[in-house]
Formats: sequence, structure tokens, C-alpha cells
Amino acid sequence: MKQQTLLSIVIPAYNEEANLRPLFDEVSRHTRALPYQFEIILVDDGSSDGSVAILQQLAAEHDEVRVLELARNFGKEAAVSAGLHSAEGEAAIVMDADLQMPPSLLGEFIERWEKGADIVVGVFATRNMSRLRRIGAHWFYRIMQAIGNEKITPHATDYRLLDRQVLESFKTLTERNRITRGLVDWLGYKRDYVYFKQEPRRNGQPTYSMRKLITLAINSFTSNSLIPLKLAGYLGVFILTLSIPAGLFMYIERYILNDPMRLLFNGTDMLAIMTLFLVGVILACLGLISLYIANIHAEVINRPLYIVRKKPATIEPLASAVAGRKERSASGQKETVAA
Ligand code: UDP
Ligand code: MG
Repeated sequence: MKQQTLLSIVIPAYNEEANLRPLFDEVSRHTRALPYQFEIILVDDGSSDGSVAILQQLAAEHDEVRVLELARNFGKEAAVSAGLHSAEGEAAIVMDADLQMPPSLLGEFIERWEKGADIVVGVFATRNMSRLRRIGAHWFYRIMQAIGNEKITPHATDYRLLDRQVLESFKTLTERNRITRGLVDWLGYKRDYVYFKQEPRRNGQPTYSMRKLITLAINSFTSNSLIPLKLAGYLGVFILTLSIPAGLFMYIERYILNDPMRLLFNGTDMLAIMTLFLVGVILACLGLISLYIANIHAEVINRPLYIVRKKPATIEPLASAVAGRKERSASGQKETVAA
């Protein structure tokens, strides 16, 4: 029975020619030991090196390999989504092609899933990266924790297992500007974690340049939270609460009471405080507009209102209870409320 259960492994690859064979060998060495059937979905994200040829060879040699070729480089997030959308297994596991995520952990992911987790997330216990990136990552998670609507786990990776039900829910998310991790986190479900040490990249260079990472970080901020939008508004309100009393004070002191405090405010000072007031008005209005934009954003990304994890197995007992009550009231019996 177990033997027939199909599991999918989804791997995005962009210019990974030197890694693909070692990756496949490594993955199949570990999957062979597990009592499941596997399909390995390799998504070529518009590679410009020899990756495609190697993928086709692998597909020709091994039945379990399925290759999805994207028409151009769409980026990792799109590639992972493409792979997940075409996964047919009872669960799908996403991993990188560069062997930074050890395939030796596949068994552990699956074990947690068997024990009832809907999502199993790989989390870096230690990371291999430069000081600059480490500091960047640290602040990224600090800010995300502070402003995000959903709590995120620091150093959670894309090395994840998603149950079939999660995959189906994932398919209902249609937004374009996506960070797979964020979407999966938004879904909720019961999750478990596997901690691992990040291996050094086997071959080639990481394609996530610092610039791409910063874009990704900004994307994460803006797609998970309203705070950056609201900040302008708060600043405006702050300026208004300072400039209105200050302006009134200056006007009354100078022109109504005729400068009893000898502060000698002149026209320039009045002009300055007026300008400050108007800037406050504009910023406050921007904040207001941001609230409307946020509403539009929520409508446009059109996320499902809610995700159901478990439906009642059957509505039979409830229906018969209702029928019973009707009968009773029809025959004039007094309804009793259960304690
Ligand atoms: N990747 C992809 N498309 C891209 C960039 C990367 O499919 O445009 C894949 C890449 O082949 C690898 C994974 O995404 O399997 C992670 O990429 P990388 O190792 O460069 O990123 P990092 O490890 O720094 O997060
Ligand atoms: Mg990598």
C-alpha cells in the first residue's frame, strides 16, 4: 500500500549544469531507501548553460524524472510555483539544485509528515554566508518580525514538504508578485520543523546577487505588511500636531498680543511654519490614501477568505438532529435545551 504512494520532489534549476547529476545521484540514493514511489520534477528556469541537455538525458535515463522547461528565466519563485502546480504526489518536497539542502534529510521530512504535519519546514541551524549577508539576514528577520502580520520563523528555508491538501490550497493563491515561503506561511496548517546545517554550494555561484536579495526583502516587507505605507501618514500626523500649535502660538504672540515676549517672529518664520503645516497635511493624506491602496491591494491579489484544514466528516448526525427537533415541535412537545 505504502509502496504505491507517490511523493514529488520539486527542484528549480537555473544554470546548474555542474550540480544536476550529483544532485540526482544524491537524491535517488536517499529516496531508494524509502518505502515510497517518487517523481522528481526538475524545473529548468531558462538556463543558458548546458543544464537543459543534462536534464533531458536524466529524463531519458530515469522514469521518475520529469523535466519542466520554462520559456525563459522567470526567477526561482515562479519556477518553484510551476513545479508545485504540476506535482502529482501525495506530498511535495521543494529543494534547491545546488545541494545546499542535504537530500539526506528527505527521510526525516517524510517521517514528520507521516506523523501528521501538513507542512515540514527546513530551518538553518547554521548558515554559510558572508558577514554582510548575515547582518542583512538578521535585520531582515528583525524587521519582518516587527512589522509582519503573520509570524515568521527566522532562517526558515524553501526546503519544505507540503501535503497534498496544502498544495491544493497553494494553487488557489493567484498573486503574481510572490514569495513562495510567504504564501505557504500565510496558509497556516500544522507545521513541523527540521533543523539542518547549510552545506556550501556544490558548484557555481549563487545567482541571488545582493541586489536581488534586497529586492526580495523589500518585496517581503511590502507584501506582508502595511507599515511602510502607513509610516508616511504617521509622520504627517506627527508634523501636524507640532506645527498647528506652534503656528497658532506664533500668530497670537506676534499679531494679536503684539509680541509681549519679544520673540521677534517675522514673515519668514510664519512662512516656514505654514510650509511645515502643509507638508504635514500632504503626508497625512498620503497615509490616508495608503489605506485605500491597501484595500485595493487586498482585492486585487484576491486571496481566498480562509483556508479550511478539516471539514466535518459527514453532516448526517447534524441533519438528523435538526429533523428530530422539527418533528418534536410539530407534535407540540416543548424543546429542551441540552445542558
Ligand atoms: N534558481 C532559479 N531561478 C533563478 C535563480 C535561482 O530557479 O532565477 C534556483 C537555483 O538553480 C537554485 C535555487 O534557485 O536551485 C537557489 O538559488 P541560489 O543557490 O542561487 O540561491 P541561494 O542559495 O543564495 O538562496
Ligand atoms: Mg544556493
